[in-house]
Amino acid sequence: MGWSTEHHPRTDALESCVTCGLCLPVCPTFRITGDESASPRGRLAAMTIVDAGRAEVDERFGDVMSLCLQCRACETACPSLVPFGEAMEGARAEVQAQVPPRGSRIKKFGLTTVLRSRFMLRLMTIGAALFQRIGVLKRLPVLGVQAKGLRRLPLPVRSAAGGSWGAGDDERPVAMLLSGCVSDVWFSPVHTATVEVLVAAGYRVEAPAGQTCCGALAAHGGFATEADEMAETNIEAFASADVVVADVAGCGAHLRTYQRLGARGSDLAAKVRDIDEVIAEAVGDGRLPTLDPRDEDVAIQDPCHLEHGQHANTAVDKVIAAAGYRPVPIDRGGLCCGAAGVYQLEHPEMSSELGERKAAAFGAAGIAIVASANAGCEMQLRRYLDDGVRVVHPVELYAEALRRRR
Ligand code: SF4
Ligand code: SF4
Repeated sequence: MGWSTEHHPRTDALESCVTCGLCLPVCPTFRITGDESASPRGRLAAMTIVDAGRAEVDERFGDVMSLCLQCRACETACPSLVPFGEAMEGARAEVQAQVPPRGSRIKKFGLTTVLRSRFMLRLMTIGAALFQRIGVLKRLPVLGVQAKGLRRLPLPVRSAAGGSWGAGDDERPVAMLLSGCVSDVWFSPVHTATVEVLVAAGYRVEAPAGQTCCGALAAHGGFATEADEMAETNIEAFASADVVVADVAGCGAHLRTYQRLGARGSDLAAKVRDIDEVIAEAVGDGRLPTLDPRDEDVAIQDPCHLEHGQHANTAVDKVIAAAGYRPVPIDRGGLCCGAAGVYQLEHPEMSSELGERKAAAFGAAGIAIVASANAGCEMQLRRYLDDGVRVVHPVELYAEALRRRR
């Protein structure tokens, strides 16, 4: 039968792999298992065989694709520029279409319906926040491990979508904020800091009410049609932006993939900036200040989707330095932390092995503040680090320093 959807991996992308194996040492699942089928090259080989009509998309194919974290470290290492992330999304779409694993319906509901509904997200967050306050959340089995990574959930739950800030000067460029899905309701202090810093940098800031989830989790889960619908909604909502700002690295990386959706998608993708890039640029040209030095280190974690998806991870060093701290990158060029969206629920052993390795590297550094520019990595780090370590978004440290100066 071969492929069955329009989203399948492209033949030219698969053929661009020269099987050199340079991607193997950077692949977390290969490093842990030592198994070729758990490597980028092995996964591409499995896709190629199906593409040639010599094998079917079956459960074994689904298992091989499922163990991938979609961290895209293999893309950075690849001399042939194989678009691995795109190929993997296509392979996952085929798995969902032909041999959907157990639990796919509930997963689809969560990633394509709940994440698009501000009402449902708020309702769930209110419930979780109440459970968190009475101490029940962390005692729930299964969720207990996950809940340790949560920040204190906000009550009341407010969405940034529909907001505008810094109005009154039409000459200012317009920065549109991706409010996102989970980040909108669980990480509102990060959005608050982002807006504050963007206004200080001279932008008018809007978070269009018509936007939706970026679609990354849906695309990674194999729900390509719904992910494209979300992309189209956002292309419309952000059409008049001068710059589209994301403060979650995974979301920013996915917005940049909209270029595959034609001219309007490319237009939006070209305007996407991670907030750390925006701050680094604004400090560089004097629109934002370098703040008073503090005699304190900040450990920096490089989210895969900032490093491999956006090639912007070193902007965080500049943000931390501009906030007055000494930036200390930890495990730079190392393996993924194992968060990877819902991966931690589907492959808890692989996820925790990677989480513990990453936490050990940070623990050895003994630094009390850790900065991560991705919500999922932040939660993963908090799960495995000692309780006394503060894990924050870099923009929060810069906004705090800006407030102290005022
Ligand atoms: S580095 Fe690129 S070309 Fe080499 S095996 Fe990996 S994916 Fe293929
Ligand atoms: S995306 Fe990450 S886990 Fe998947 S094959 Fe590439 S390096 Fe390995």
